[in-house]
Amino acid sequence: MSAETDADVLVIGSLNTDLVIRAPRHPLPGETLHASAVSTLPGGKGANQALAAARAGARTAMIGAVGTDENAQVALSLLRESGVDLRGVDALEGPTGLAVVTVSDDAENSILVVSGANAEVGADRVRAHAEQIAAAPVVVLQGEIPREGIEEAARHCTGRLILNLAPVIAVDPAVILAADPLVVNEHEAALVLEQLTTGQDAPAEEPRRLVQRLRAAGVRSVVLTLGAEGSLLSEGEPGVLVAVPAAPIDAVDTTGAGDAFTGALAAGLAAGQGLREAARRASRFAAFSAQRLGAQSSYSRSGDELPALPG
Ligand code: ATP
Repeated sequence: MSAETDADVLVIGSLNTDLVIRAPRHPLPGETLHASAVSTLPGGKGANQALAAARAGARTAMIGAVGTDENAQVALSLLRESGVDLRGVDALEGPTGLAVVTVSDDAENSILVVSGANAEVGADRVRAHAEQIAAAPVVVLQGEIPREGIEEAARHCTGRLILNLAPVIAVDPAVILAADPLVVNEHEAALVLEQLTTGQDAPAEEPRRLVQRLRAAGVRSVVLTLGAEGSLLSEGEPGVLVAVPAAPIDAVDTTGAGDAFTGALAAGLAAGQGLREAARRASRFAAFSAQRLGAQSSYSRSGDELPALPG
């Protein structure tokens, strides 16, 4: 347990406010178009994963930064309500991270992201929490804070490091190799492989092969998420792969499903579950969220019944 908090899962990452605008179609350059609806929602991969971990039952703390604008309160709202320890989230002069999401009637998204305070979560800011990081049994990182912040966090981590390198940014390969597990989708897996195997032939497309190649490159354990196809796990013996199914659901909006999965996975591992058991539970948790609109607003609360896995 941590010295500053008693958190079992410590998420170091981004917090955003999502301004979601629904419009018949995307505006052309120079065009003014009337939108049909707007909503302001909490988001950011770090915050999404922290909320998911907390809702999945883990005592959760977060390190990151918001701005001093009104959006900061939106970004923190559900984390606060769910009891996430936010003492490690600094309020910095300037804007909170903002994602302007336009959703057209044909369900195509276009997104503009302003990093805002997330861009300030570099090595120095992370180092200030070195003790808390070293004491955390499970540390979760993503790719939405500066590379230096990610590398510093990994340096101080003595517990289990879960790395969801999304988006994929260049980091010290030692961070990727220390991940246990590295959680990536197919697209991200191929980009990470490129980083780890510079100069070698182009990565294979086939999911099993991607996982095997990541393991062969030295990654301790891998979870490859495959949307409605579930996920593939590999730990221990590199040749052994375990498939975890997705729950058969009618998906309404899969925004934030990947973050729901990673946060719930972290909660399961922190509770002492094995990777397979934690991934099965995470699969159900993520499927619940895909049945509802939004990211954080779609995450289950205790008492909600999660969809069952087949078999
Ligand atoms: P995101 O769109 O949030 O970035 P991602 O690409 O990181 O997602 P996915 O592979 O799409 O992650 O989803 C993560 C997990 O969520 C999957 O492994 C699966 O367990 C669950 N999931 C996602 N989409 C569906 C779906 N349509 N039906 C059932 N489960 C789903």
